[in-house]
Amino acid sequence: YNSHYHCLKEMKIFKDRKSLQREILSTKGIAFVPTMGGLHKGHISLIKKSKKTKFKTLVSIFVNPKQFNEKKDFKSYPRNQKKDLKILKNLKVDYLYLPSISDIYTFKPKNKVFLDKFSRQLCGKYRKDHFPGVLNVINRFLEIIKPKKLFMGKKDFQQLYLVKKHTIKRKINTKIIECKTIRETNGVAFSSRNLRLNLKDKKVASKIYFYLKKIKYKFKYYDPNLLKKEIINLGADKIDYVEFYNIKNFKKSKKFSRNSRIFIAYFLNKVRLIDNI
Ligand code: AMP
Repeated sequence: YNSHYHCLKEMKIFKDRKSLQREILSTKGIAFVPTMGGLHKGHISLIKKSKKTKFKTLVSIFVNPKQFNEKKDFKSYPRNQKKDLKILKNLKVDYLYLPSISDIYTFKPKNKVFLDKFSRQLCGKYRKDHFPGVLNVINRFLEIIKPKKLFMGKKDFQQLYLVKKHTIKRKINTKIIECKTIRETNGVAFSSRNLRLNLKDKKVASKIYFYLKKIKYKFKYYDPNLLKKEIINLGADKIDYVEFYNIKNFKKSKKFSRNSRIFIAYFLNKVRLIDNI
């Protein structure tokens, strides 16, 4: 016998929800990591956390057309299935769900999506279809998979918050696990979209990150309009928003203060980046 033969339990891949559901029935429960592929160290940290639970880990890769505001952005979203498969197999993920668009959208979910009013702030102001699209797909995934745990990154803070509110409001028995933002050594948060940045863009993104961090730790108060100008000077092409939110009550604050978190969305060469610090 090959001694490690029995450790090499192959990851099972499912392309339709019915066969996935049949498989899940025989498990003690599922720990679920939804992604849009283009896997990087941010995704990997979520998967590693999920692997530490007593449940089977299921990763999905689905580029959800409904959460893109522009067709062009959906079409150009980075996809690399071959590389993704290799990463997931190396991590010894139990299940991969690779649904088609119709597999996700041709059934009627029992729960109606709950959209908290925070969905109209920040990214919600600039990308109207985004959060309704995200909540639509997550609501469907939750009904198909009924995971015990759902792993989500704080990099997409608003998304995390809104999914949490939805599960509470609809009394869904899934625990949302918040995962910290993983960054490159230059400070820039890992994102599939970073593949579309050139070296110069990356340097600007790095400068912006360290600038925001400095503001956060050195100043008691700061004016957002001044900050906007400074970020343009650092090389951002356009800013959707730089806003301060009090993280105790999720109220927007005019000035930066001790309880604030800085939320930013800006463009580098048509690539839209978000972060919160
Ligand atoms: P995406 O594939 O971009 O939809 O992301 C899938 C999940 O990975 C989401 O819960 C994201 O918040 C999370 N994620 C993306 N980038 C990072 C990162 N740099 N650090 C931690 N989590 C991340």
